[in-house]
Amino acid sequence: MDKFIPLSVPNLKGNELKYVTDAINTEWVSTSGAYIDEFESEFADYLKVESAVSCQSGTAGLHLALILSGVAADHEVIVPTLTFIATVNPVKYLYAYPVFMDCDDSLCMDMAKLKLFCQTECTFINNKLINNSSGRHIKAVVVVHVFGNMADMSALMDIAEKYNLKVIEDATEALGTYYLEGSYKGKYAGTIGNIGVYSFNGNKIITTGGGGMMVSSDTSIMKRAKYLSTQAKDDAVNFLHNEVGYNYRMTNLQAALGVAQLEQLEHFISVKKENYRIYKSSINNKISGLKVMDFREDVRPNYWFYSLYILNLDKYDRKKIIDCLANDNIQTRPLWGLIHEQKPYLNNQTYMINKAYDYYNRIVNIPCSSNLSAENVKKVLIKICSIS
Ligand SMILES: *Cc1c(COP(=O)(O)O)cnc(C)c1O
Repeated sequence: MDKFIPLSVPNLKGNELKYVTDAINTEWVSTSGAYIDEFESEFADYLKVESAVSCQSGTAGLHLALILSGVAADHEVIVPTLTFIATVNPVKYLYAYPVFMDCDDSLCMDMAKLKLFCQTECTFINNKLINNSSGRHIKAVVVVHVFGNMADMSALMDIAEKYNLKVIEDATEALGTYYLEGSYKGKYAGTIGNIGVYSFNGNKIITTGGGGMMVSSDTSIMKRAKYLSTQAKDDAVNFLHNEVGYNYRMTNLQAALGVAQLEQLEHFISVKKENYRIYKSSINNKISGLKVMDFREDVRPNYWFYSLYILNLDKYDRKKIIDCLANDNIQTRPLWGLIHEQKPYLNNQTYMINKAYDYYNRIVNIPCSSNLSAENVKKVLIKICSIS
C-alpha cells in the first residue's frame, strides 16, 4: 500500500515545540498569558487592523459575532447553503432563523441573488429589512470566503448599507487572502465587514489544534468581544457580572502554537500556491473532462483548498474519483452536504438555489497540505490521469 497522502493536515516544523515548551515552563497554560497577547497583537498586525480577540474555535467566534451584531431570537440571518455547518449553527443557538442563499461561480454567496431577494422578497421600512414571507426582521448576513477565495465584498457592502444589514465575514478558510485591486485593494478577507472570524482548527491554513480569532475595525465591538468571551466579568475581585457571558477564551498553550504558525503563514501560502500551479498546469487543457477551478482574479488567495471540477459528467463522477484515489491511499473529499438539506434546517427558507447543487456534483477537493511534497503532487496527478 502506498503511503497515505492526506487532504489537509497540520505542519508544525517551526517554533511550535519551543513556544509550547516555554508556555509550559512558565506554567501559564490557561486562558491568560503572554502568548495570547502576542498572538492577538501579531495577528492584528498581519491583517493591518487595530486589534484582534482570540477565542476557542471559529464556531465560538461566529456565535459571538452574531451576538455582537445584535442578532437575537426571531431575527433572520442570511447565510450561504454551500458552507460548513458551523457557519449556520450559531444562528440557531440564538433562536434566530437562517435564510439560505445560492453560490455564484466563486463558490461564495451570489450577491446578484442576494440583491434580488432584498428588492423583491422584502420590505425596507423604518430602517429595517422585513422578510415579506415571514414578517421577521433580517438583521445580518454571514458571508463565507469559501476555500480561501473571496466573496464579492463590494457588492455585499453596498447591499448591506442600503438595507441596514450587519455583515459577518466567516473568514475561517481565508486567512491571508486579500484584494489586489478595486475599492478594497489591500484589504484582507475578514477585515471588510462589521466582524471577521477566523479558525485555527487542525485542517485550516494555520492551526492551534482548535481555536479562533475575531477582528473588527470598531474597537467597542472588540472590547465587548473580549468581555463576552471571558464570562462577562465586570468586577474581577468580587465576581460581579452584568450580562450572560461565555467561557470562549483561547488558552496560552494554543496561542503559543498560534504565534509559531503565524510566523510561517506566508511560507505556507507560497508552497500551496506552487502546488496549485503544478496541479492546474498538469490538468487544465491536458485531461479532458476535468479542470482545477480558478480563484478570483482580483485577489491574492491563500490557496487553502484546491477544487478539482468535473467538466464532463458522462466521463467522470465525483464518487468514482474519490474512490479511485482512496484505493491508492490518497484522501480527497466532496463538497459539504448543502446546509438547507440537513435535517435541522429542512424547514428554513431558501432562495433560488441551483448553482450550489451543480457544484456539489462536480467538485472534489484534492490534497493541498502546506507540507505536501512535489513528489506526492505527482503521485496524485498520475492517479487522476489513470481514472477512466
Ligand atoms: C472550519 C470552519 C468553521 C468552524 O471553525 P472551527 O474552528 O472548527 O469551529 C466555520 N466555517 C467554515 C466555513 C469553516 O471551514
